[in-house]
Amino acid sequence: MKVGLGGPNIGLREKLVTWKQLSSGQLAQGKKVAEFEERFKSVSSTDFCVAVNSGTSALHVGLLAAGIGPGDEVIVPSFTFAATANSVALTGATPIFCDVEQDFFTLDPLHVEELITPRTKAIMTVHLYGQMSDMAALQALAKKHNLHLFEDAAQAHGASLEGKPAGSWGDFGAFSFYPTKNMTTGEGGLISTSNPKLARASQMLRNQGMLQRYKNEVVGLNNRMTEVAAAIGLVQLTRLKKFNESRMNNADFYFQTLSGVSGIQLPQVRPNSTHVFHQFTLQVHEGRDLIHSRLAELGVDTGVYYPTPVHQLPAFSQTIDLPVTQRLTETCLSIPIAPSTTKSQLKFVVKAIRQVLE
Ligand SMILES: *Cc1c(COP(=O)(O)O)cnc(C)c1O
Repeated sequence: MKVGLGGPNIGLREKLVTWKQLSSGQLAQGKKVAEFEERFKSVSSTDFCVAVNSGTSALHVGLLAAGIGPGDEVIVPSFTFAATANSVALTGATPIFCDVEQDFFTLDPLHVEELITPRTKAIMTVHLYGQMSDMAALQALAKKHNLHLFEDAAQAHGASLEGKPAGSWGDFGAFSFYPTKNMTTGEGGLISTSNPKLARASQMLRNQGMLQRYKNEVVGLNNRMTEVAAAIGLVQLTRLKKFNESRMNNADFYFQTLSGVSGIQLPQVRPNSTHVFHQFTLQVHEGRDLIHSRLAELGVDTGVYYPTPVHQLPAFSQTIDLPVTQRLTETCLSIPIAPSTTKSQLKFVVKAIRQVLE
């Protein structure tokens, strides 16, 4: 048997709406994008949704809309995908790399507080692997030090904490619809916010700085979502709940069958939260790379997200010490969790892991 990490779930309906949209001749941002934004509010629970062409654009446009720029510092985790820090750097601001909580893989509020300086303008947290960050603590810090709070929710469509969804806690949330995410539009992204000024600024910035054609108010980008992407997204939105449920069911199976296996730590779910398991990530105490390749020999694909702390990538090359991040890049191993994974594949994964570790 072979078990892969799973790709996008593209069904007949996604193919049909793509055909229909292409045939209509309406390709650039229009009615479908507006409809997608309206419908996505049921996921983000925010007053506004602004669709863009990628998760990175959502972060970038959101930051620009919030007025982040040169001279500002934004605290970000180093244990994340580079897009989080890239978007900060692209505004001219400085990403300040912070450590994470070992059990939850998300920003460590205690370390965040140590990093706050007079130049700090914002905290940008990442709900990594579909797990909510410690939003109560981060919100308290943001309030105390008068900072913006932003959420990189690229892996957390439908996640929630105390019943409040990802993307509705901070000044804005940024979602990605890249093919491997919990739902896809091909490429795409979205800014969620309940702040009307931020929403308006985002709508302008994604479209050359204009709300009405040829009445450009500010200098802006072309980061618009296409109508085809929005049409696919509208279908995927109707399937998101089921996608997430099957991820969570797959996680439950792993919790039941992998507990007590020595040499690994299973992921932990933050109390009072819904974890949507974009990834199911083990911490392998020793020999992660060897276990990764032995599982591959047995037919089980696993992923290492992420092998290098972002602050150590050539793009940033900083020499600061973030011990938890460092350790996690050496121990993390994500196992197949995608909705397309069958029960017999899950059983096969568990058997292979037991065989390799014992
Ligand atoms: C995928 C991802 C992004 C970027 O999204 P794109 O749509 O690929 O630009 C940003 N942050 C995190 C944590 C991601 O996983």
